[in-house]
Amino acid sequence: METIELHQAFFWDCEMCGKENFERAIALEMTRDEKTEIFRDMGELESYEELPPEFDIDLLSAPKKVKCKYCGTIFRAIEEGAEDDDTEYDDDAMTNY
Ligand SMILES: [Zn+2]
Repeated sequence: METIELHQAFFWDCEMCGKENFERAIALEMTRDEKTEIFRDMGELESYEELPPEFDIDLLSAPKKVKCKYCGTIFRAIEEGAEDDDTEYDDDAMTNY
């Protein structure tokens, strides 16, 4: 039997056609220093602490926009439980999707 590697993904239900869609999680390419900085900012590491191996992981991000692969409707995407705050959203970016 062949082996396949599973990747993390997000799913969402289209409000226009009701179909279920999946989006790949975006792995953020970061150096150890950048990860160290982020964990320090989150308060997980003290400023004098080095990045432990268990934190040296690929951080994942959800897409900001999603497009239904069935009906083509584009939605602004927020992560589950996040506030729907569109102040940082740039409408012009929509046309470049
Ligand atoms: Zn749809």
